[in-house]
Amino acid sequence: MIRIQKTTPPPSTLNNERTYEQLQIILDKNGFDNDKEKDNYRKLCRSDRIYNALCETYHHKCAFCERKQSRLLPNAKAPERKPRFTIEHYRPIKSYYWLIYSWDNLLPVCAACNGNKGNAFAISGTAALPEAVAGEQLHTLAPHYHEQEKPKMLHPEIDEEHIFEQIQYTQRGTMFAHDERCKYTIEQLQLHSSKDIDTMRKKIWEDFYERAGSLFLTSLAEFEAEVAVFVANAYMPENEFIGFRRFVIQHMHEWLHNITSESDQATN
Ligand SMILES: [Zn+2]
Repeated sequence: MIRIQKTTPPPSTLNNERTYEQLQIILDKNGFDNDKEKDNYRKLCRSDRIYNALCETYHHKCAFCERKQSRLLPNAKAPERKPRFTIEHYRPIKSYYWLIYSWDNLLPVCAACNGNKGNAFAISGTAALPEAVAGEQLHTLAPHYHEQEKPKMLHPEIDEEHIFEQIQYTQRGTMFAHDERCKYTIEQLQLHSSKDIDTMRKKIWEDFYERAGSLFLTSLAEFEAEVAVFVANAYMPENEFIGFRRFVIQHMHEWLHNITSESDQATN
């Protein structure tokens, strides 16, 4: 999981009189009568324009686990359809119904993360109350709410970079953290127990370790070039598992220790 800057403005679908009118209806009745009605109002969030704008912002990766859209499994019920992310409401609309059309409450999320998150939304501050907002303000409520509610789950666009840096990894690709909020997020979303994701991250490290290891013994210049490629890849936002890649860079010296000590033994 990494911090994302959502620079794209809210698509016009979320920013017009009709949407504001719909929102007012939801507010007037204090939410939804049932799940069917909720799904009906939510349809607007699933428009292609919103979907594409979110995917572009998130570089076609899940907002939580950083898995690429191309890795998503086909829908068993409709295998002919291209697998898609779910448009997730960071603050679940079951309780935060007035945020159903808020741009900063929408995240593209894979099916696994969507299922694990559910309607969970723990806070340690004071819960925000429904309010009638329209216009630009509707799409920029999250920073203010964050301060008031102190949610336990990280928000990729609102929380600061240094919080995401508290997320750690093992060389086997497993995510963990000591920071309370990071820990909560990892456990709630089960980001520490997805074998396929762990394997993909582990492979990134092992492939690099193998290449770097053999080059370290034969050509220091080529070894340095290999490291440079690894670093460059960690700053290409379209790549998967950027969080992991950057963690590896920070711990490269320590993680490469075996290579360097083996070469010490070889030269002694
Ligand atoms: Zn995911």
